[in-house]
Amino acid sequence: MDHMQNILRRIPKIDEVLQEQRLVLFYGTTPRSVIVESVREAIDRLRKEILAGNTEGLEDEDALMDEIVSAILEKKKRVLRRVINATGVVLHTNLGRAELSREAAQAVMDIADNYSTLEYDLRKGARGSRQDIVESIVKKVTGAEACMIVNNNAAATMIVLAALARGKEVVVSRGELVEIGGSFRIPEVMEQSGAILREVGATNKTKIGDYERAYNEETTAAFMKVHTSNYRIVGFTEDVALSDMTALGREKNVPVIYDMGNGLLADLSRYGINEPTVFDALKADPDVILFSGDKLLGGPQGGIIIGKKKYIDLMKKHPLARAFRVDKMTLAAMEATFYQYLDMEKALREIPTLAMITASEDVLRARAERLTEMLLAELPQYSYEIVPVLDQVGGGSAPVNYLNGLAVSMFREDVAAEKTERKLRRTQMPVIVRVNHDKVLVDVRCVRDDELELVVQSFKEIEGGES
Ligand SMILES: *Cc1c(COP(=O)(O)O)cnc(C)c1O
Repeated sequence: MDHMQNILRRIPKIDEVLQEQRLVLFYGTTPRSVIVESVREAIDRLRKEILAGNTEGLEDEDALMDEIVSAILEKKKRVLRRVINATGVVLHTNLGRAELSREAAQAVMDIADNYSTLEYDLRKGARGSRQDIVESIVKKVTGAEACMIVNNNAAATMIVLAALARGKEVVVSRGELVEIGGSFRIPEVMEQSGAILREVGATNKTKIGDYERAYNEETTAAFMKVHTSNYRIVGFTEDVALSDMTALGREKNVPVIYDMGNGLLADLSRYGINEPTVFDALKADPDVILFSGDKLLGGPQGGIIIGKKKYIDLMKKHPLARAFRVDKMTLAAMEATFYQYLDMEKALREIPTLAMITASEDVLRARAERLTEMLLAELPQYSYEIVPVLDQVGGGSAPVNYLNGLAVSMFREDVAAEKTERKLRRTQMPVIVRVNHDKVLVDVRCVRDDELELVVQSFKEIEGGES
C-alpha cells in the first residue's frame, strides 16, 4: 500500500502542470477554466491507470502534455466551424449554401463591430429606415420599382401572402405545389399566412383557362406562380407562361405573385444552366417577385421581394415585417453583393457561387493536377487519379443541370475510404469529401486554390492519429 502511495505521489499536481510553457501559451486566448479542466481530466485518467496497475504514463511527460494540448484544442473548437467543401455541390444546403464574396464578407466585418447607419440618414441627421439600405441598389441593378428584404424566401412568401391575400384565395397550379426541404411547403405556408389555396389544373398540365375559371371577383386575391426549383415535370406537360398570367392579372385587376426561388441575376445559359433570371421574370412584369439571397444570387441568407410599390408598401407596414426583418450584417452583405452586379463580368468572377458554377474545365484540371502533386509529395501511400465527376448546383436550384467536374480520386489498399472520409471530417480544418467504390473523391470545383494546402494538411493530420 505504501508503495502505491509513493507512486501516486509522483503524479504531477494541477498547479505545477499549469505552469508548463506549452500551456502558458494558451493563457492569452483560452479561458482558464478550459485549460484547468483539460489538465484535471488528463491527471484523473493517469491516476485511474496507475490504480489499475499501469504506471507507464508516469514515464512520459510529453505524452501527458500532448494529451492536454489536444484536449484544449478540442474544447476550443466552435460548433459552427469553417469546412472545406470537396463535394462538388456548389450551394450545399448543409454546408451553408452560398459562400459570400470577399467584398461582401469585408462589408460584414466593417459593420459588425462598429456603429453604422442601420437606421440613420446621414444627410438629414435623423432617423432612417433599414429597408432603404438595400432598396436603392436593388432597384438600380434590377430596375424594379420597389424592394423589401426579409430573413429568407420562406419569410418572403409568408409576408407577401399575409399582406395581399389574408382570408382570400390565391390561385396556384397543382404542378407547382413545391416542397423546399423539410418544412417549407407552399400549401402549408399558404395556410399559415391566412390565405386560402385555390389549386387549379393537374399535376402535369395547367392552362391559362384554369386560372381564368378559378377567378372570382369576390374571393380571388392573387394569381401565384411558383418556380419548381428543385424538380421538373417532364413528358406530357404544359404550364402557363408568367407573361400570360400577368396579362390575365391585369385584365381581372388581381396581383400576380412569382416565387422564383433561385434569384439568378446572371445569364448562365452559355454554361448549361437553364434557369430563369430575375430579368426574365421582370420582363413578364408580375406585380411581386420573390427569391432567396443565398441561392444563385450568391449572397447572404435573405428573402428579396421586388415589384410594384403599392404592394411592397403594404408588406412594409405589415406586423410580420418586424418579425421577419434582417440584421445589419445581412444588409451589409446583401448591399455589397448587389453592388457587384453593376459589373456583370466582375460578378461572374468574384461572386463565389457564380465563379464555381462557371469554372472552366482548364481551371478545374489545373487545380486537380496541382492538388494531386501536392498530395503525392506528402502522401505516397495513396494511388491517385484525376477522374471526371458530375457536380451539382445544389440548394434546390437547377435540379436537372449537372456540371462536368473533376475530382482527385484517392485509393489505399489498407484503409477503407469510408474511414478516411470520417477522419477528414474530424480534423482541425474539416474536409467534406465523397466516397465512391472505395475511392476518396476530392472534388475540386468548390475548393479554392488557397485551400489546397489546407486539404493537404488535413490529410497529413489523419495519418497516424486514430479516431
Ligand atoms: C428555395 C425556395 C424557397 C425557400 O427559400 P429560403 O430562402 O430557403 O427560405 C421558396 N420558394 C422557392 C421556389 C424556392 O426555390
